[in-house]
Amino acid sequence: MKLASTLDSLRTDNSFAALPDAFYSRVSPQPLGDPWLVHANPDAAALIGLAPEALSTPEFLAVFSGTRPLPGGTPLAAVYSGHQFGVWAGQLGDGRALLLGEVQGPSGNWELQLKGSGTTPYSRMGDGRAVLRSSVREYLASEAMHGLGIPTTRALALVASDDPVIRETVETAAIVTRMSPSFVRFGSFEHWASRQRPDLLQVLADYVIDRFYPECRATPAGEAETQAGPYLRLLAAVTRKTAELMAGWQSVGFCHGVMNTDNMSILGLTLDYGPFGFMDGFDAHHICNHSDTAGRYAWDAQPAVAHWNLYRLAGALLPLVQDEAALRAALACFEPAFLDAYHRRMAAKLGFRQWQPGDEELLNGLWSIMHHDRADFTLSFRRLGEVAADAGAAAPAPGNETFEDLFIDREAARAWLARYRDRIRRDGRPDAERRAAMHRVNPLYVLRNHLAELAIRAAKERDPGEIDRLLAVLRDPYTERPGYEAYARLPPDWASSIQVSCSS
Ligand code: AMP
Ligand code: MG
Repeated sequence: MKLASTLDSLRTDNSFAALPDAFYSRVSPQPLGDPWLVHANPDAAALIGLAPEALSTPEFLAVFSGTRPLPGGTPLAAVYSGHQFGVWAGQLGDGRALLLGEVQGPSGNWELQLKGSGTTPYSRMGDGRAVLRSSVREYLASEAMHGLGIPTTRALALVASDDPVIRETVETAAIVTRMSPSFVRFGSFEHWASRQRPDLLQVLADYVIDRFYPECRATPAGEAETQAGPYLRLLAAVTRKTAELMAGWQSVGFCHGVMNTDNMSILGLTLDYGPFGFMDGFDAHHICNHSDTAGRYAWDAQPAVAHWNLYRLAGALLPLVQDEAALRAALACFEPAFLDAYHRRMAAKLGFRQWQPGDEELLNGLWSIMHHDRADFTLSFRRLGEVAADAGAAAPAPGNETFEDLFIDREAARAWLARYRDRIRRDGRPDAERRAAMHRVNPLYVLRNHLAELAIRAAKERDPGEIDRLLAVLRDPYTERPGYEAYARLPPDWASSIQVSCSS
């Protein structure tokens, strides 16, 4: 397929806008004043069939600053509700996001959404804006997640302005354009259940099944066809996808920060980057969101919270299924699906051919020493790849820091390494092969808070160079790049003072 060089030649197809009016409000974006393009992402552009040269046109800036409509699009704000921090919060959004339209790409459709383009009927007390700081973080994080191979929404463009936005201090406005096959959330379902509208709930469920889970229509052999069947299979499919997503997050030390049900994608994508964080020093109870005082969304709580959120989704589907036991049965695949995905990922990270009985204890031993010494999450796994199966093998080249160097209690690290070496010797994989395999799954670069902070500071000075350099390593975080050593280092001392909260 030939790539389009102008936005007019994109092929649009607005399926969400074809749903009944109750699902959204038609709203036009409120443009940013004197907007400038901070960054545009050619990888995301290719997904919608847009050529790189289109990204530097005035038209591109006009559309993604909210100044001009997307040709062929139908701008709207979708409505959803949700549970925030475990409490039913009623109707929530889209308070500051606007669906511009859906574009047919070379291998699938993508919805294009502006985040920060002004108020909507669902803005409640909010101003409908997003600040540059959080927009840079979302832009970078979604591409970093994609680079790590973890399902996520994507980012197409980042536009900024000097328009003031009041948060804890006065900041400036920005709009990030996100892309996803769908932005439907668990909270979209909870919305219609809470409004006691089983008719609209069914419209939504049918829409999601027909477009994204068509396999749920087929009755498995030996099962009786029931009206509830497709909805139960939808719940099971979302449960599996969400479980796999949690395994992905846990395996890279990612904390979402605000796992409210309105931030849970029905497609199992990482959605709504706010006070997220990739851990530096490992703390199993790490809380990345300064506003999360109780630690509800701490790193080690994420899988259980996801399961809790799936229970809320199941509750929302009850009017369609009318069978609580059947819903519980569909949710029961969470734990095995999570453990299977988690063990597969962790076996690969540890360089094992496959997960074996006893590996849980070995892994827990690693988590325990890492937690005790706050050893760097990313570098611990990366340097494990350099460990030779035979302790007497060649010493590391001078100047090369080792796994043990990440630990204060070296004795504990060495004791754990001895057990680890026993395990890899039993596997019998040649060191070089294991090292190469481990380096393909243990990133060298992640979007550490201080790296995002440096990119934000530069963007505030209208310098997009730091975003460029960061994206270069984050797109392929496994391959070491000469000249980019600083991006792989431990965080500087000032990094610990960075605070991220819900305010964005
Ligand atoms: P979040 O915690 O970012 O997922 O936001 C929760 C809800 O509040 C979502 O429905 C957002 O659309 C809405 N929201 C957050 N910030 C704003 C804002 N500045 N203006 C309007 N709505 C907002
Ligand atoms: Mg949200």
